Amino acid sequence: MSDLTDLYQEVILDHYKKPRNFREMPECSHHAEGTNPLCGDRITIYLQIDDNNIVQDVSFQGSGCAISKASASLMTAEVKGKSREQAGELFDHVRRMLTGETECPPEASLGKLRVLSGVCEYPTRVKCATLAWHALSAAMQGEDNASTE
Ligand code: ZN
Repeated sequence: MSDLTDLYQEVILDHYKKPRNFREMPECSHHAEGTNPLCGDRITIYLQIDDNNIVQDVSFQGSGCAISKASASLMTAEVKGKSREQAGELFDHVRRMLTGETECPPEASLGKLRVLSGVCEYPTRVKCATLAWHALSAAMQGEDNASTE
């Protein structure tokens, strides 16, 4: 199990140091800022959703701890190309995994997002890991901000 944990930590550090889709999107169709006052994380999610409700593009900007940034980076990589509905389902799975509603190790369907499962052992980090997802969810619903509090 510790090998797996090391692997997960490596992926998280990689996404923290080299975040994917880390840019502003001036022409976005939806955006929302998420804040996690507990840790000081602030992340803005940008979405380009087309007429068929497909997420054509997704990016993020902001500052925060390693977990919040890595989670946002992983989220953008997974959500791109999915429908609004699929993205919402993914958020639900991730939230359940992180809050321990489902058992660790988590479902294979989560793919790369499983690396976040280790976070559920650190309750104070759960809000960092879900921040980008709350912002994503808010953006998809047409709201412009989300807070973990
Ligand atoms: Zn944080």
